[in-house]
Amino acid sequence: MLSPLVAKPGMPQPSDDAIHISGAGPAGLAAAITIARAGGKAIVHERKSDVGLRFHGDFQGIENWTTEGDVLEELSAIGIKPDFEHTPFHEVVCYDPAGLEYVYRSAQPLFYLVCRGNQLGTLDASLKKQAQAAGAELRFDDAMHRMPHGGIVSEGPHGADVIAAGYVFETDMADGVYTALSDRLAPEGYAYLLIHNGQGTLATCMFDDFHNELIYLKRTVGFFEKKTGVQIKNPKRFGGVGNFFSSARAHKGNILYVGESAGFQDALWGFGMRHAVLSGHLGAKAMLTGNTYERLWKNRLGGLLRASLVNRFFFSKMGDRGYTAFLKRISQVDDAREWLHGHYEPSLWKNLGFPIIRFFRHSRLRGRICLREGCDCTWCRCRHACSEEAG
Ligand SMILES: Cc1cc2nc3c(=O)[nH]c(=O)nc-3n(C[C@H](O)[C@H](O)[C@H](O)COP(=O)(O)OP(=O)(O)OC[C@H]3O[C@@H](n4cnc5c(N)ncnc54)[C@H](O)[C@@H]3O)c2cc1C
Repeated sequence: MLSPLVAKPGMPQPSDDAIHISGAGPAGLAAAITIARAGGKAIVHERKSDVGLRFHGDFQGIENWTTEGDVLEELSAIGIKPDFEHTPFHEVVCYDPAGLEYVYRSAQPLFYLVCRGNQLGTLDASLKKQAQAAGAELRFDDAMHRMPHGGIVSEGPHGADVIAAGYVFETDMADGVYTALSDRLAPEGYAYLLIHNGQGTLATCMFDDFHNELIYLKRTVGFFEKKTGVQIKNPKRFGGVGNFFSSARAHKGNILYVGESAGFQDALWGFGMRHAVLSGHLGAKAMLTGNTYERLWKNRLGGLLRASLVNRFFFSKMGDRGYTAFLKRISQVDDAREWLHGHYEPSLWKNLGFPIIRFFRHSRLRGRICLREGCDCTWCRCRHACSEEAG
């Protein structure tokens, strides 16, 4: 599951007791902050010329429902200052496949809206600053392909289980968060429109039929224009992939995998930032203390990951009628955050169902060979299928 690291001639070899980290996303930077704050030497190797360049100034949400306590308090407790721009949202408007509107509210923030990229105020720029202030060394344009002396791999997705295609844009629309469940807009996933301070992010987040992303994107734009009246100015296209899987182990030898490289992401809807930061911190802690990383991540994230894979399995079987029933069900609860908390919570039946679901998910992926004539996808767009074909 975890891709082998390939030799890169000339890669700097550790001449000291530095801990090398491959990838300067939230997971790698959280690891670097933890190591440097504890007095250790952290060297982060980032293949791009800055942090956050996988993203495009798009808005994302840090979920705030998987624990009773607030996510920002949890981040502060592990030494990550929430000094990036973040806006709490207590309300989400959701449309069913027929376009009927449901409004979900919560007393506590459902999530915090943040921006991704390398600009000032983004999550990525803030973590970079914190890592450098703590004394970590960041080396840009420095791809890491091999870790002969061990280290932390935080390279983000190594495959595509979900893709997002969308636009970032300017708008006069008031702040708001809108989502839609419909296989016409986002197969087995959801479409979203996030507006804050005159900036917008609109995307289809698809878990199937990746080839037709442009068709789904066009429908998503039309849908939100009609439903919300959003006017899109100066749009810029963006896209991305997400990877989630369940692996019995997140290390090989003295190499630890954190964040999306380890498959740590909410499989239901692709919320990965919180998992990334937490697992980066735990990986660093394991490196510093000699504690077993496996025990640390399994205690904090294992149950959540299993529950999310079970949730994803059932969600992917729902279809449009199921989405409508699902949205109606949530509309009957008083507090959406509490409902989400319960839905994401590990339980006995989810633990028991997990091995069966995992078997089905794997066989489904194995069966996904892309047979389209003339397919020119690169590795990610067909769920590894093209490389399997080539091989
Ligand atoms: C469009 C989109 C929307 C999303 N929305 C949300 C959301 O609303 N909420 C949420 O919680 N999550 C969301 N996610 C998921 C979330 O962004 C990721 O789960 C999170 O960024 C993972 O962090 P990471 O540190 O593991 O990896 P990344 O953020 O991907 O960082 C990995 C870094 O490693 C670098 N790298 C890769 N290979 C190498 C190498 N060989 N050597 C050196 N460096 C390397 C990359 O350039 C990158 O900078 C979204 C993802 C996408 C694509």
